[in-house]
Amino acid sequence: MNGKKDTNDDSSGVTLVTNYINGKFVPPSTNEYMDVLNPSNSQVIGRVGLSSSTDVDEAVDIAHQAQKMWANNTTIKQRAGLMMKLHALIQQHAHELASLIVLENGKNMTEALADVAKGNETVEYACSLPQLAQGKNLQVSSQVHCQDLRQPLGVVASIVPFNFPCMVPFWTTPIALVLGNAVILKPSEKVPLTMRRIADLFQQAGFPDGVFNMIQGTKDAVNAIIDHPKVSAVTFVGSSPVAKLVANRCRALDKRCTALGGAKNHLVALPDCELDGASSDITVSAFGCSGQRCMAASVLLLVGDQERLLQEIVNKASKIQPGSEPTQMGPVIDTASYTKILSYIEDAEKQGATILLDGRNWKNKMENGNVGGNWIGPTVILHQSPEDKAMKEEVFGPVLSVYKVESWEDAIDIENNNPFGNAASVYTTNGGNADWFTSRFRASMLGVNIGIPVPREPFSFGGLYGTKSKFGDMDITGDGAMEFFTNRIKITSKWPLVKPPASRKRPHDAT
Ligand code: NAD
Repeated sequence: MNGKKDTNDDSSGVTLVTNYINGKFVPPSTNEYMDVLNPSNSQVIGRVGLSSSTDVDEAVDIAHQAQKMWANNTTIKQRAGLMMKLHALIQQHAHELASLIVLENGKNMTEALADVAKGNETVEYACSLPQLAQGKNLQVSSQVHCQDLRQPLGVVASIVPFNFPCMVPFWTTPIALVLGNAVILKPSEKVPLTMRRIADLFQQAGFPDGVFNMIQGTKDAVNAIIDHPKVSAVTFVGSSPVAKLVANRCRALDKRCTALGGAKNHLVALPDCELDGASSDITVSAFGCSGQRCMAASVLLLVGDQERLLQEIVNKASKIQPGSEPTQMGPVIDTASYTKILSYIEDAEKQGATILLDGRNWKNKMENGNVGGNWIGPTVILHQSPEDKAMKEEVFGPVLSVYKVESWEDAIDIENNNPFGNAASVYTTNGGNADWFTSRFRASMLGVNIGIPVPREPFSFGGLYGTKSKFGDMDITGDGAMEFFTNRIKITSKWPLVKPPASRKRPHDAT
């Protein structure tokens, strides 16, 4: 099977998702696979390879060789040119890719198309790097120059989560490649089909074999990637406990690492907020992508009573129906996630919270139609205590925790004391009020009247260092990624002045 395109099925006709090394799909040396399930109905839609260090060794050795040619024999303009071709191919295949995302992740079609489009935005940014990736030059004196050049790191790796099968792998891969690195990507074992198809598009765009590679698998594959001596740097996006493990493992090996973890994003609504806009935006932020966005609203702090705003949010959320059509909401990724989300709702109930909208009935709704899958609807909890588990921990599902506070200071206290630091937003129609909050939030991506304040390139994406949202060194996209994927080499040069030979006197010099 080695060296064949990945059109392989197992004996039951299920797609086998293998590694992509040196421009070819190759099965893992272990010959072990795990099921990939459709979260909408729990049916097996693929079997993903479980790679070992043997596979990682092969991929990294190939990437190491390919990177030398890639960095030394191509210009940055040529590398960006291939990226432009990839950009066009992704646009051309956007619907096909989005359908794979719907199938393996459970998003609705609009969200899946946005996942593809946001991924392609980073490809666009990578295409601009010939204009952006310059160094610096300082003339220190008439003879001494100091210049600072960007050089690629070599082989770099990206380990990614399930919730954005296209966008998150594309936060890093295009930037790393245009800057002259070779890439080893480890997709999430829960959603490997989208990137498998994108590997074909890399080939179609004309990328040389070996510069973009994929290793499938789980923990063993990740550890082998981090430990490989020829892997220079690692980016990780996923849950906080694993982000911390990855960052610490890299640190012990003196490797550059940025590791983004989980989130608990707080929104604060002030009494002067615009009711219709705020209620729509908060509903989309909390329940879009079934709440499985690291930028999703998960705690809403209402300053004052604000019954009308709360009622509007509950009304809007209660109209969301299960399904994959653009206005509908999909399932959560797997049964483990479903069970965990349920436990947060049950715990809040036990603590005396009021469940204003209960998504638990979706499971029955779908099971009665014999659909199966991990269906849980929008849930709004009005808490009595900020100490409830759902107020403090990452739920990562369609659950909005609401808590009423009396003052701005109380809102800031609760937000500042949460251990995560990804995003926070304030809803108000007053600019001064907004500034008061944005200068006090303890998170790094802030919004004003925006529930999902994702910065667009060239701004970098990443949580606050020192919180559970970010471990390691830098942000992951935009100019942060440009820094991450290059070494800054400083050259100081002094050229001796070689005087020209004394010239003969010219006729006019005499006068
Ligand atoms: P996860 O941590 O379970 O998995 C992420 C990756 O790590 C996967 O590729 C997985 O195979 C690998 N992995 C899992 N366990 C490992 C271990 N013990 N050792 C080494 N590697 C391991 O995360 P997930 O469930 O796929 O994704 C959801 C999480 O990702 C949420 O917490 C969410 O907030 C977070 N997330 C964060 C951001 C961000 O920018 N901060 C963006 C997207 C998702």
